[in-house]
Amino acid sequence: MLQSFNARTQEPFGAALAPTTAAELEAAIQAADHAFDTWQASDGNTRAKLLNALAEAIEYDREKLVELADAETGLGPVRLNGELDRTAFQLRRFATLAQNGGAFAFTDDPAVAGGPPVGHPHMMRVRVPLGPVAMFSASNFPFAFSVLGGDTASALAAGCSVVVKAHSGHLHTSQRVFEQAQHAIEKLGMPKGLLQMVQGAGNDVGVNLIKHPRIAAGAFTGSTRGGAALRDAARARVRPIPFYGELGSINPVVATPAALKVGGDALVQTLAGSITLGCGQFCTNPGLLVLQRSAESTEFVNHLVEALKTQKPHAMLTKAMRQSLDHGTAAQLAAGAKALLHNPVNDINPNPYLAEVDAKTFMAQHALQEEVFGPATLIVWTDSVDETLDVLHTVGGTLTVTLWGAEQESADTHRLVRGATAIAGRVLFAGVPTGVAVTAAQQHGGPWPSSTEPMTTSVGDAAVDRFLRPVCLQDMPAWLYKRQGQPC
Ligand code: NAP
Repeated sequence: MLQSFNARTQEPFGAALAPTTAAELEAAIQAADHAFDTWQASDGNTRAKLLNALAEAIEYDREKLVELADAETGLGPVRLNGELDRTAFQLRRFATLAQNGGAFAFTDDPAVAGGPPVGHPHMMRVRVPLGPVAMFSASNFPFAFSVLGGDTASALAAGCSVVVKAHSGHLHTSQRVFEQAQHAIEKLGMPKGLLQMVQGAGNDVGVNLIKHPRIAAGAFTGSTRGGAALRDAARARVRPIPFYGELGSINPVVATPAALKVGGDALVQTLAGSITLGCGQFCTNPGLLVLQRSAESTEFVNHLVEALKTQKPHAMLTKAMRQSLDHGTAAQLAAGAKALLHNPVNDINPNPYLAEVDAKTFMAQHALQEEVFGPATLIVWTDSVDETLDVLHTVGGTLTVTLWGAEQESADTHRLVRGATAIAGRVLFAGVPTGVAVTAAQQHGGPWPSSTEPMTTSVGDAAVDRFLRPVCLQDMPAWLYKRQGQPC
């Protein structure tokens, strides 16, 4: 049986739940496959109707859902209400996108008379939905990256059905969201197979799900290790399938001495807040601060230590995450980092951690380059812009890079911007990386290890593109042309 736990007390929470059996997994996938048959040909209004109803369903049940999620994650009602709002917003945004034709965009290329290479037949490049998607929820967003999160919303908008693997860290929240979604689907008279959910102890259910021949793609948000294992399983199939994994990230913040001087205390407070926000359990948490040696940088760090001392992070999501935070900080110290703020406690609520290291040691020690999930940041001291660029190059792949101090165009700022864009999906020139807007230009994904598919995004309108495959229709019949990109 599967047992959920109260994040704050670590006591068992709610009734034990039965893991999905092999027969139930098969039935869930068959139902999703059956539903895909008709859903792939649905029009934008039909897709919008479903997505809007799902948004309403979670809003309607808000009180109970937030209560459950708060017990299972300890994230607190303010954050969880905000996350539920974001989840409903996301569902509605993809509804609008489907309605406005975003999922049916096509390129029409009229026939050109004459022989090749100039002449060609009438061609139309359309996109077709992939099929049932296996979706793996993340622990740190029980709504926005879970059962009805961005992956599910964008897959449904694309015309795919979804089989969710519930996260073991919020089983009852997942169950309740799933029940509300099923109720909404039933009320619309749509097939329940559009959204299915499975759960299991250990990794078997997830691995069997991604390996199933009827599953056409995987969408995952979580750890680098988990994402790599499932990506490998997706690739090892007789017919490999796309696997969109959003994984770990250390999100360097690079600041020039001048920027730190101008930013003053406001910048210190903003960064301290970002490091400890949600107990540091964000994929965009600033895990690395890259500073060039200077009096301004030293003063900034002294103030940051003081600011972090006043922060009281809440409980971590799970006991395992709490332990892995201690392992991560211990590994950094063993690899040559020096602690500036390290007050270990034997408690589910950790203290903030800040350490420093010189650039050469950072670049030589792989342990210093790994994500430490929680309120922990490593400062890397560099002696020049060249060394800062070497540090970024060593990081290799990250969801974000923040550049403070690039306002004046110069050869150095060109190089820093190039260095940042080479490794990140999103480059910020102000503010902090926590907070990922759901919008048209968002890019949430970057080179490995932040994502398995750096050309795609899991947040924002373009997330829908992951589940659509281009097909060229050549000399199509008039009725097919009339569908204007809507699959039949
Ligand atoms: P996780 O432990 O990898 O879990 C994610 C999902 O994958 C869960 O359903 C889990 O199952 C399953 N899973 C994990 N390892 C597996 C394996 N070897 N085989 C099959 N299934 C497996 O990640 P998490 O604890 O939820 O999240 C923490 C991490 O996610 C952090 O590193 C954070 O940075 C990253 N994250 C990234 C993003 C992003 O957008 N890039 C966003 C949020 C979080 P169980 O539930 O049964 O364990």
